[in-house]
Amino acid sequence: MNTYSKLGVIGLGAMGYPMALNLHKAGLLTAAYNRTHAKIGALAKETGCLAANDVSELAKNCDAIVLCVPADRDVLEVVERLAANLQQGALVIDCSTVSTATARTAAQRLAKNKIDFLDCPVSGGTEGAKQGTLAIMCGGDEKVFARAQPILSALGKHIVLMGSVGAGQATKAVNQIAVAGIAQAVSEALAFAEAEGLPLDKVIEVVGSGAAGSWFMSHRGPSMAEGRYPLGFKVALHEKDLKIVQRMAAARGVQLPLVEMTLLHYRHLLESGHGNEDISALHRLKRALFKLGD
Ligand code: NAP
Repeated sequence: MNTYSKLGVIGLGAMGYPMALNLHKAGLLTAAYNRTHAKIGALAKETGCLAANDVSELAKNCDAIVLCVPADRDVLEVVERLAANLQQGALVIDCSTVSTATARTAAQRLAKNKIDFLDCPVSGGTEGAKQGTLAIMCGGDEKVFARAQPILSALGKHIVLMGSVGAGQATKAVNQIAVAGIAQAVSEALAFAEAEGLPLDKVIEVVGSGAAGSWFMSHRGPSMAEGRYPLGFKVALHEKDLKIVQRMAAARGVQLPLVEMTLLHYRHLLESGHGNEDISALHRLKRALFKLGD
C-alpha cells in the first residue's frame, strides 16, 4: 500500500515538539512549522528538518501533516492555509483536542481540494508524547487510516479507529470527563491524607498499588505532595476541553455534575493566575478546604 513520504508537523508545543522528535526517529520527519519561529531552531538543528517560515512553505514540501495546536479556531485557521497549499491526495492528521463539529468542518474544507483528513486526538500527557506511547483515538476513512499507520505508530501504542470523522474527538471528550474525575479524586484524596498527617510518599505508594491506583496518582502524585504542579497538561487546555463536553451534553439536554464542578474550580484557578499550571493544581483548592498553608 502507498504510504506518505514527506511529513510535516505544525505546532511545536508541549505535545507537538516531542511528537515531532518521534516522527524523526521513525525516519518520517521532513519539515516543521511553529507560529513562534524561534522554537523550530532546536528541532531543525537536532533533526535536519526544514524549518518552514509559514504554513504554505511547509505544505508545498509535504504530502502529510501532523497538526497539534490548542483550540478549534487555531485548527480551522491552519486547515484553511493547508487546503490552499497541499497537493491532491495529501493527508492532514489533527492531534489537537477540538469539537466534533470542527473535525467535520476541517474534513469538508480539505475534501473540496481532494485532501484527506483524520481526527486523531491523543491521550497520555507529555510523557506519552515523549515516549511515543500515546493512546490515539481516530476518526475517518478506513483506507486513509490504514495508509497513516506508519505515522500513527511512531506517535502512539494504542491506536484505534472509532468511526467516521468526528468519532476520534467524541472519544476524546469521553476521555476528558474521566480525566476530570480522576484529577478531582486524587487531588482531594491527597489533601485529606495531608490533613490526617500521613506520609504522602507512602500514601501514594500503597494507595496507588490498590484499587485507587491510576496514571494520575503515580505520575502527578509525587509533585502534588511537594506542592508543585509542573506541566503536564494546562488547566486552561482542560477547561477548553470540558467546555466542548459541556456543549455536547447540553445538546442532549444534560448538565454533567462532574464537568460543571471542575469548570467552576478551573475558573477559580484561572482567576488566581494558575491557568498555565498542570491540572494537578486542583490540589491547591483541596488543600485550602483544610486550611493547609503554603
Ligand atoms: P501548547 O504547549 O500550548 O502548544 C500549542 C502549540 O500550538 C504552540 O506551538 C503554538 O505556537 C501553536 N499555536 C497556537 N495557536 C496557533 C495558531 N493559531 N496557528 C498555528 N500555531 C498555533 O499546547 P499542547 O499542550 O502541546 O496542546 C496542543 C493540543 O494537544 C491541544 O489541543 C491540547 O488540548 C492537546 N493535548 C494536550 C495534552 C497535554 O498533556 N499537554 C495531552 C493531550 C492532548 P507558539 O509557540 O507560537 O505559541
